[in-house]
Amino acid sequence: MRYQIAVIKGDGIGPEIVTEAMLVLEKVGAKFGHEFVFQEVLAGGCSIDVNGIPLTQETIDICKSADSVLLGAVGGPKWDSVESAKRPEKALLGLRESLGLFANIRPAMMYKALAGACPIKPEIIGDGFDIVVCRELTGDVYFGKHYRKESDCGWGEMGCDDMNYSVYEVERIARRAFEMARVRSKKVTSVDKSNVLETSRLWRETVTRVAQEYPDVELGHMYVDNAAMQLVRNPGQFDVIVTGNLFGDILSDEASMITGSIGMLPSASIGETGRGMYEPIHGSAPDIAGKGIANPIATILSCAMMLRYSFGLSDEADTIESAVEKALNDGHRTADIAYGGEKILSTSEMGEKIRENL
Ligand code: NAD
Repeated sequence: MRYQIAVIKGDGIGPEIVTEAMLVLEKVGAKFGHEFVFQEVLAGGCSIDVNGIPLTQETIDICKSADSVLLGAVGGPKWDSVESAKRPEKALLGLRESLGLFANIRPAMMYKALAGACPIKPEIIGDGFDIVVCRELTGDVYFGKHYRKESDCGWGEMGCDDMNYSVYEVERIARRAFEMARVRSKKVTSVDKSNVLETSRLWRETVTRVAQEYPDVELGHMYVDNAAMQLVRNPGQFDVIVTGNLFGDILSDEASMITGSIGMLPSASIGETGRGMYEPIHGSAPDIAGKGIANPIATILSCAMMLRYSFGLSDEADTIESAVEKALNDGHRTADIAYGGEKILSTSEMGEKIRENL
């Protein structure tokens, strides 16, 4: 099969890590008989430098006509003084909107070889954890009306943000979560604040109704404050967490941080069609850009997610994930995941070790 991939290397370490990921895809393609055709486009700070704006219609059109998008990271101090409507990060929002990406999928798992990086005590972690946070991406308070008004009781000006969720929006993200749980440990935890919020009461009712379509998957509900606590108290209890945009923003960062290795974690943003946007969770790391020391693993694992979720190539995805795990088990480390004594590999050396294992 031939797959068209729009590639946004972006800013900072973006070009270094995406190059390694593209080489991994090429090798997987050669091994399994697929052709991955890359088309590089600009977005973020590098697009501001060339086009004056972070996201052009040309980039949007190429991403829309591709089978999927691979992105490094955008942003950096060079563009910090740019007016907020034209900041590099606006490219991400524009792409999500244009591509109709309503679900953000972030796995957070602990690799046994990196257990030392986990900030939680070993006796709590036990056998480790393997969580996926499925965050709704296009609704909630972020997309409600934002406005100011005079308070009724003489307390001065008030800032107001409307929080909204429709049944349709909750149903489609809930189905994504249940389908994902079906091929994992068959457990969904829906996180809301239904003791306070009307949007959350509708969320809980809707998720409960959708659960009837998936009798093989266990559904639990949890208030967001408790979920934040349980993630550090006993992360092993979770399989798939499904939640709204605001709670998901916070919980997905928390879930990532308990792994202790920001350079390791991939993510996917997906919509109704098979097309998705795949990127590491970390940013453009301007402090280490151009030094050849960034960890390429999060980007390489993002490619595995692309193969699995957009192209239905599970064996190929498994092969990449096993190659990464073997490299770690063999003791190969970039600087961010080295804890003493190991030989430190460069970005390209780590990419090469992973490719040798494919
Ligand atoms: P960051 O994730 O770029 O960096 C945080 C720390 O983690 C830094 O010390 C960095 O060196 C380290 N780090 C990150 N990725 C690494 C990797 N692959 N290997 C080794 N070390 C790694 O976060 P930040 O410093 O807050 O943001 C820098 C820029 O990135 C900002 O302009 C921000 O807006 C942007 N950003 C972009 C995205 C994105 O494109 N999706 C996401 C987050 C931040």
